[in-house]
Amino acid sequence: MGPSPAAARLQALNEQLPAHTRLLAVSKGHPASSIRALAQAGQRSFGESRLQEAMAKQQELADLDGLDWHFIGRLQANKVRPVLKQFSAIHSVDSLALAERVSRIAGEEGLRPAVFLQVKLRPDPNKGGLSADALEQEWPRLQQLPNLRIVGLMTMAPLGLEAPQRQVLFAECSALAQRLGLEELSMGMSGDWPEAAAAGSTWVRVGSALFGPKP
Ligand SMILES: *Cc1c(COP(=O)(O)O)cnc(C)c1O
Repeated sequence: MGPSPAAARLQALNEQLPAHTRLLAVSKGHPASSIRALAQAGQRSFGESRLQEAMAKQQELADLDGLDWHFIGRLQANKVRPVLKQFSAIHSVDSLALAERVSRIAGEEGLRPAVFLQVKLRPDPNKGGLSADALEQEWPRLQQLPNLRIVGLMTMAPLGLEAPQRQVLFAECSALAQRLGLEELSMGMSGDWPEAAAAGSTWVRVGSALFGPKP
């Protein structure tokens, strides 16, 4: 038997990613068995957007060492504590109030999670995120939150942008991160990771291009 289709796609993707870009395999909607196949092919970092679904899979995969779980979905206030316990990084902190809450609960739990601040640089009713202005205004307070490691910015391109417009958007996000002294950029999904990687993304979040259509 050859490698699974997902393992073959993983290898092809890894060969195309530039050296500065790591791959977060977005496994939401896919079973633990699919995650296991990619883990056996060497993938370590997985992204999930729903807590209950993620926890069930994490339990099934508890025999695997060294998996690194990132939370990428909208984070509800009442899910902060369990998310902190189950994930090493959160890509979707999209307000000062949420950041304050995550920091407070992380302190109570003795944790210091890696956090990406989600920014929204174009109008998009379907997505959360701080505007560039709000982020710059709140940055002094965000920086003082004691129990967060704010490592970077996360953004998503609205549907309907062409590749050149997406590249401009990703470059803006990269410039904003640079102004704030943030090194990581979580940008790019199945449909637009090449532009994001070209604009300096350090984490592309790829689901369907890796796992195939949802079962
Ligand atoms: C689902 C999801 C992805 C992956 O999307 P694909 O188009 O399947 O690659 C990336 N980021 C976030 C926040 C997601 O919810």
